[in-house]
Amino acid sequence: MTAGLYVHVPFCLTRCGYCDFNAYAGLGHLASRYVDALEAEAGLWADAWRGERFGSVFLGGGTPTTLDADELARLLARLRERFDLEPGAEVTIEANPDTVDEEKLAALREAGYTRLSMGAQSFDQRVLDALERVHGPASVHRAFAAARAAGHTDVNLDLIYGANGETLASWRRTLEETIALRPEHVSAYALTIEPATPLGRKVQAGLVPGPEPDLQADMFDLACELLGEAGYGHYEVSNWAFPGFECRHNLGYWRKQPYLGLGAGAHSYRDGRRWWNVRPPAEYLDVVEHGQRPVGGEERLTPEDERLEDVFLKLRILEGVPVASVDRDVASGFLQQGLLRRRDGHLVPTERGMLLLNELVLALAG
Ligand code: SF4
Repeated sequence: MTAGLYVHVPFCLTRCGYCDFNAYAGLGHLASRYVDALEAEAGLWADAWRGERFGSVFLGGGTPTTLDADELARLLARLRERFDLEPGAEVTIEANPDTVDEEKLAALREAGYTRLSMGAQSFDQRVLDALERVHGPASVHRAFAAARAAGHTDVNLDLIYGANGETLASWRRTLEETIALRPEHVSAYALTIEPATPLGRKVQAGLVPGPEPDLQADMFDLACELLGEAGYGHYEVSNWAFPGFECRHNLGYWRKQPYLGLGAGAHSYRDGRRWWNVRPPAEYLDVVEHGQRPVGGEERLTPEDERLEDVFLKLRILEGVPVASVDRDVASGFLQQGLLRRRDGHLVPTERGMLLLNELVLALAG
């Protein structure tokens, strides 16, 4: 079993109204200090993770491509020095379309970044405005073409559905434009409203309507239909890929493989223990610059939590749970309702079942 290495870069050009990630606009002046701190933190963990083979690296955020290509190349080279990355490891970098051009993308490829994950979200300007995204649809086309010209052959486009004003017809156009580009991987997430975000506060104040669950369910169905017809395999509730292009790093999380997170707020997991770094970038810098590991907290799951989580993860990656492990009446009820189906002695969620995953988990793990 290989491990994953996650590196968090908390800088963004602007802050999107719906975002509750550990991401900040206006902190670009900290960037080079932050890269130094990431390298130092890698050194603080290297001995503890010696002997572990890493099959994937994922630079997420935030927007890692706000860092310049030289910094990103140097960072990856340092990680290779500190950790045992297997040959052919998947190395993903998340990119915002407005922070990349062909030259930068070619430099990243040259440096060893093998996979590009681009935040497209929608091809409808009104939807992008509702999400307060800084880029427009034309930027996604330009950045995607630049990625291909730079030689990137493993590209993901991230989409979000259900923003205020988005119709099923608009979502269909977004899916069709996405498919026309033929990215190797597509992630499509239902917009969720987090109370502590600017959008969450607007929804609570009644200034903006929240997503309509029925419309989002129809949008999910449409994604399943169109992406399936276009040859994408549905391998996780919100993720589709051409065969062989499933994201190894994310599959590692869902299969409970160990992972080490570096950077502000990054989470780690190993041997049943989870821990996470302090969240504010300034605090992270301060702790690492004093030569300390920046751990902010940790937990061990109880056996009951472990069991619920195992069932949840197995359902979400459509591996399913053994038929024999589930109460017969419970299983037959869900089979009749079309929420589960049988496959190779396992019960796996149908596309309708994926929309009710939490209910399925509680019933199946009970
Ligand atoms: S670009 Fe991504 S991480 Fe940055 S603010 Fe927007 S949603 Fe959040």
